[in-house]
Amino acid sequence: MATEISNADKFRLDSLFEAFSIVSEGSYVFLCNVTADFSRWSARAVDAFDLPGEYMVGAGALWERLIHPDDRKAYRENIDALFRGEIHTHDLQYRVKNREGNYVVCTCRGTIMRYEDGRPRYFGGVIRNHGLYGHIDALTGLRNQYAFFEDLKGHLAVRREISISMMSTSRFTEINEIYGYHFGNLVLQKFARFLLDSVQGNGHVYRLDGTKFAVISTTIDDEEIRKRYNRVRDKLRAGVEVDGHFLTPQLNCGFLHLDNFDVNDRTVYACLNFAHSESKLHKQGDMVQFYSELTAEGTNRLEKMHAIRNSVAKNYNGFYLLYQPVVDAHSERLLGAEALLRWKDGHFGTVPPDFFIPVLEQDPVFIGLGRWILKTAMEEAKKFLSLIPDFTINVNLSYTQLENQDFVNMIRELLEITGLPPQNLCLEITERCRLLDLSLLKAVMLNLKDIGVRFALDDFGTGFSSLDIVRSLSFDTIKIDRSFVIDIEEDTKEQEMLSHFTAIASTFGAKVCVEGIETTGMRDILQQYHVNSFQGYYYSRPIPPEELLESPLISKT
Ligand code: C2E
Ligand code: MG
Ligand code: MG
Repeated sequence: MATEISNADKFRLDSLFEAFSIVSEGSYVFLCNVTADFSRWSARAVDAFDLPGEYMVGAGALWERLIHPDDRKAYRENIDALFRGEIHTHDLQYRVKNREGNYVVCTCRGTIMRYEDGRPRYFGGVIRNHGLYGHIDALTGLRNQYAFFEDLKGHLAVRREISISMMSTSRFTEINEIYGYHFGNLVLQKFARFLLDSVQGNGHVYRLDGTKFAVISTTIDDEEIRKRYNRVRDKLRAGVEVDGHFLTPQLNCGFLHLDNFDVNDRTVYACLNFAHSESKLHKQGDMVQFYSELTAEGTNRLEKMHAIRNSVAKNYNGFYLLYQPVVDAHSERLLGAEALLRWKDGHFGTVPPDFFIPVLEQDPVFIGLGRWILKTAMEEAKKFLSLIPDFTINVNLSYTQLENQDFVNMIRELLEITGLPPQNLCLEITERCRLLDLSLLKAVMLNLKDIGVRFALDDFGTGFSSLDIVRSLSFDTIKIDRSFVIDIEEDTKEQEMLSHFTAIASTFGAKVCVEGIETTGMRDILQQYHVNSFQGYYYSRPIPPEELLESPLISKT
């Protein structure tokens, strides 16, 4: 039972409340004298949530009734734990019904001030109403992508260490197609709820674009996050019921522990997004951490990515291309070269493409960079034509470039600007392209092959669906990855594989290029197969264009 509040207690409550309000920066403030269950709330909160007045008895119970029924349990448990002294602060995100009857997401942070004997004296805190800022995802009620970036920028600005997880469920498009859009929405709502429950006040949940969700946490350690993630994943794998249908979604998760603040929110997002794709595409949903798992270099990786990303905006300053000769397998004359991207900077030194391309290729900045690579390589190639008229320049593509609607037009435009004949250009695509809709890829290839551009399938055999891709699309050349020929001199299995690969290529009318020739021995044995061209350190490492122009390989032609 609440006791009557005295004038002195009310005076104390008011002065504390005002002190609190001064530092609350636009959030609502509440302060409760626990013994009397008498509290004061900001007038703006009273207005937004149609509360009885600034001074209330029993405000906690009133407030709880406004909380979304799905969020009440988590709220109650959190408050109870706070009063029992098991936790010291209350930091929870939940939905509250406003004056108009709509649920808005609020973040509530509160704490208890106690008497010397430990009894609670005041319960006070701040409530941030996210509904006011247009930062709410209408479907799930969660904070949206804008809010995610706003919060992330805030953490970076105050250099606060945080952990971020990006999650999604696989096969969501399939769910939409089979059960319809409405059902798909129910699944997303259920998933949002599931995440809120599992985070339980230890972080803030966001819905990013489409089916991606994120959690930013300032409190628990990385190992605990991993454990929690695994629990959620196992639970979903075992199956959940949504509207009478039994689903077994696969969860994917990219993770990043942010402890370097000399980067911006976009770089953090790009790296997190990359870790998420790795989890989805290559790790069957195991949590992939951006830092420790992907590089031995450790903590400066994010900063390096930031510098590389920024180079795109600075007119590609720091990027350059090296060219690795491709020679005829028998006459060893120079047929062309493959353009390979590098990045260099006074502080970080030379950075190989494997470090940054997989991260950048999903980033919007890659559109500009991809164009720059193509244009630069085509301009250089043009210079070789007077020496070798059929010189072919091979340029690597990322699947995101092919996805761009303007891709075909861009190639046409660049051919015109640079004056390179289309048949001297060969575009290399990798099996990562299986992520694309095969019919889209086919249309792009047909369009460009029509005008004479050639295509090569890079790293043949390293992915899951080489055969499928070779069968569906028509390649001029198949490039066999060096991992298949490293031990070709001794390994009879490798030899047998190579025979199969060359047979497949000839079935589909494609030429074969073998990569990674390092020794005379390799060359000699490989010349006995149906192979058309070679590329490898034995002939030359990737070199600057000036050096290639001087290369002794040219004199062989
Ligand atoms: P890739 O297209 O398969 O390129 C061949 C890679 O093998 C190059 O590595 C090359 O330096 C290396 N290599 C060639 N011969 C030998 C050899 O005899 N021994 C060994 N150990 N390695 C050899 P690099 O330049 O580090 O490129 C790695 C990958 O990065 C490329 O593999 C390609 O997938 C990607 N990449 C490079 N440049 C670009 C680009 O401009 N755009 C895109 N999208 N990807 C690129
Ligand atoms: Mg290549
Ligand atoms: Mg390759």
